[in-house]
Amino acid sequence: MRSETSFWHPYADMGSVRRSEHVMARAEDVWVWDTDGNRYLDATAGLWYVNVGHGRPEIRAAVAAQMERLEACSAFFDLANPPALELAEALAERAPMPAKVFFGSGGSDGIETAAKLARRYWWEIDQPTRTVLVGRTAAYHGTHGFGTALGGIPSNQEGFGPLNDTIRVRHDSLQEMEQAFARIGPERVAAVFIEPVIGAGGVYPPAPGYIEGVADLCRRTGALLIIDAVICAFGRLGTWFGVERWGIEPDMIVFAKGVTSGYLPLGGVMISERIAEPFWREPGGPIFRHGSTYSGHPTCCAAALANIEILERDGLLERGRENEQALLDALAPLAAHEFVSEVRGGVGTMAAVQLTGEACERQPRVAAVLALAARAAGIFVRPGGTAVAVSPPLTATPEHFAMIADGIEYGLSTLYEDVLLAA
Ligand code: PLP
Repeated sequence: MRSETSFWHPYADMGSVRRSEHVMARAEDVWVWDTDGNRYLDATAGLWYVNVGHGRPEIRAAVAAQMERLEACSAFFDLANPPALELAEALAERAPMPAKVFFGSGGSDGIETAAKLARRYWWEIDQPTRTVLVGRTAAYHGTHGFGTALGGIPSNQEGFGPLNDTIRVRHDSLQEMEQAFARIGPERVAAVFIEPVIGAGGVYPPAPGYIEGVADLCRRTGALLIIDAVICAFGRLGTWFGVERWGIEPDMIVFAKGVTSGYLPLGGVMISERIAEPFWREPGGPIFRHGSTYSGHPTCCAAALANIEILERDGLLERGRENEQALLDALAPLAAHEFVSEVRGGVGTMAAVQLTGEACERQPRVAAVLALAARAAGIFVRPGGTAVAVSPPLTATPEHFAMIADGIEYGLSTLYEDVLLAA
């Protein structure tokens, strides 16, 4: 047995993880087992993605069959493959606006595509001063260049030098967004990026009227509205792209994660006709010089098609909404704990337990400590800054939600030593 790993984990304190990895061996529906045979309830659905639950034989079979026919194939220039074509149709049919589909490998990749396309679109229609991209506090838009700049979690931006031309406004204030537009000059704003429910930054559902208000501001000023639905799509909020719940038609929607339930890496952007038009109008027109090796990867697209069929067939798409109150109700009593200031959720099957400022001051890593303790009690929750988040597979039931609450409660009970002794 090796005493130290060569695997550099994402977002990890490798100084400690180098000798203490926790290795997973298998998974089934909402359950994951480690290599020692311990079972855990995966209340994180991997990383907000295993919407149909682990171990679906239909996705396995679709992937194997596609591998036998055509495992990989470039989609550059005029090349295509049947699963990519079929998936693009399937997504376009389900989108809240008439749309074209640009494929990539994941969420960060999709954000990069959307940001570049927004700027390139304005340049193309002779408004090259529209370059400013607007993000929000607490937002997470992945780890690539634009996503890092747009995000609203300060520790994710430290030490990377100058970042792209973006500004950030408070996530819960329409007024601040309007003031920012006025300050910059609306003719300079290229696009606004919005997670319908902020996920990794702590599960913040939008205030009533906020998303409609931002959509209206964009409509009035011409700025593009880009919905980051990387977490919220494919049933997490009970609809295909999450944003349907607010009855708006964005200019672009970035998706990833739940499109394959994470079985294979895939992401992309739904692009409205308005944005596509200059590039699709006629032969010899402008080319969006962007795309990656795995754009339209046939095996990943085959996994997505099988996943979409399961979401539809098993009624899981709606479950994200049907269960939202039950999940919140199960966790709500935790708000009475002295280290908990708030339990957030109620829009989609996702929620967060917010730790008090005092607890975080006494032990800055309190969320990580809590998540590890909950794991010891058999529950995976996701630590993020000063809260722990849950987003179980859409197959999870209220009995599972009760187990999640028990696991977090157990974790909280272990904090007395960590938090109080750290005082
Ligand atoms: N956008 C949001 C809202 C996300 O939650 C994430 C990842 O968690 C991303 C973008 C980045 O996606 P990926 O990790 O697939 O690059």
